[in-house]
Amino acid sequence: MIKKFIKRILGVKNKANSQQPQVLGPKEHGIDPTLLSANAVRVTQTLQEAGFKAFVVGGAVRDLLLGVKPKDFDVATNATPEQVKRLFRRAFIIGKRFQIVHVMFGQDLIEVTTFRGASSEGAPKDEHGRVLRDNTFGEQHEDAARRDFTINAMYYDPASQTVLDYHNGIADIRSRTLRIIGLPEARFREDPVRLLRVVRFAAKLGFVIDPDTREPIQVMAPLINNVPAARVFDEMLKLLMSGHALACLQQLRKEGLHHGLLPLLDVVLEQPLGEKFVTLALAGTDERVRQGKGVSPGFLFAALLWHQVLEKWNAYQAASEYPIPALHLAADDVLDAQTEKLALQRRIATDMRDIWAMQPRFERRTGKSPYKLLEHPRLRAGYDFLLLRCESGEIDPEIGEWWTAFIAADGPGRAELLTRKPKVEEESPAPKKRRRRGGRNKQKAAPAEGSST
Ligand code: ATP
Ligand code: MG
Repeated sequence: MIKKFIKRILGVKNKANSQQPQVLGPKEHGIDPTLLSANAVRVTQTLQEAGFKAFVVGGAVRDLLLGVKPKDFDVATNATPEQVKRLFRRAFIIGKRFQIVHVMFGQDLIEVTTFRGASSEGAPKDEHGRVLRDNTFGEQHEDAARRDFTINAMYYDPASQTVLDYHNGIADIRSRTLRIIGLPEARFREDPVRLLRVVRFAAKLGFVIDPDTREPIQVMAPLINNVPAARVFDEMLKLLMSGHALACLQQLRKEGLHHGLLPLLDVVLEQPLGEKFVTLALAGTDERVRQGKGVSPGFLFAALLWHQVLEKWNAYQAASEYPIPALHLAADDVLDAQTEKLALQRRIATDMRDIWAMQPRFERRTGKSPYKLLEHPRLRAGYDFLLLRCESGEIDPEIGEWWTAFIAADGPGRAELLTRKPKVEEESPAPKKRRRRGGRNKQKAAPAEGSST
């Protein structure tokens, strides 16, 4: 009895600081209210007026504390998904296991999540300790403890302008430290995707990974292999589209995590041409993201895997395959190898194929083919890709320059450009019967009629 009582007191005491949040007022946290989304405020207000607790949570609070405009807003509440849904005109319950509510305002989406319970001990796990199902509702402090990093576990109430901090996230924001909540090894084990997240946040925010958090990372790395491919893909996509993809990949390498994520990426990064190509592609993507321009995942993955395609393309041609079928076979091989681990969505895989299949067509600069290519719906992506190939030293920059001029030119200008026949094509008039050998020089590979896309 007494033992139990003492234990309980101690237990409560132990957990006291993670159950009782530190509360910070506007002067202490310094959040600029103009960085908040009006819709997020509307959602918390509506929920609070209906008698529920509601806070902006997670990455948005972290970004607000860093003085950065958050790219999206999540709201956490003690209302159940059904209760949330009833309060908004356009609200949709998403997900089977742990339901969340998407509240829509025009194009703007606010994701509303009910506080999750801290049930990971009793939750079903796979043989490596990864939590399989964990879908109970809980108290706010339990919700905080389930989040990944201290800086991602703070709650902001727009009405009172207070921040609730359960895990000393504020201190970590100030010292620019990335620290996992709880025991690092256990937290990585129950969800190995956090290994990718730690790298993404460290690179994106320029934060230092706390030594205890960092220590188990490399040993735990193989656990990513047991995570369902679709989740790895989602997290990988976030990483690549973060505007800091290059920094993220460098960080992945530093942490020894680059092996096995994109199974073929390891090899790519070890070939000098491949590395240059990937580096240029990612630098370009990062630049676009930072300028607020759209980035297509298809383009990105097409670039990441291009040198694998090239290698296989050459191999098929060396084995007497015609250039165009060889390119398609190479694309199949590379996509198959990736899908196992990454679950590339079909739409993305189609974009990748389109971009790859267009490449040999750029090398035909006679007759009607360049005009046909101009009408290709994905011309822009294919052309940007071509420029990367030029810039990386894979092909003659003259081809890229020619296309830049051709796209920009008017009718007579285009006709004039077509008379400027590139040397290569003058020397070897398009053969009627193609030699079965092919492929010694992929750059000269002429595409078969109508075989693209
Ligand atoms: P970003 O600004 O890049 O979107 P974020 O922190 O908002 O960063 P999300 O993936 O949108 O990242 O996740 C929202 C929040 O959900 C996180 O801040 C974190 O609190 C929690 N979270 C997400 N993924 C996990 C995870 N694997 N384990 C624990 N908590 C997680
Ligand atoms: Mg987010």
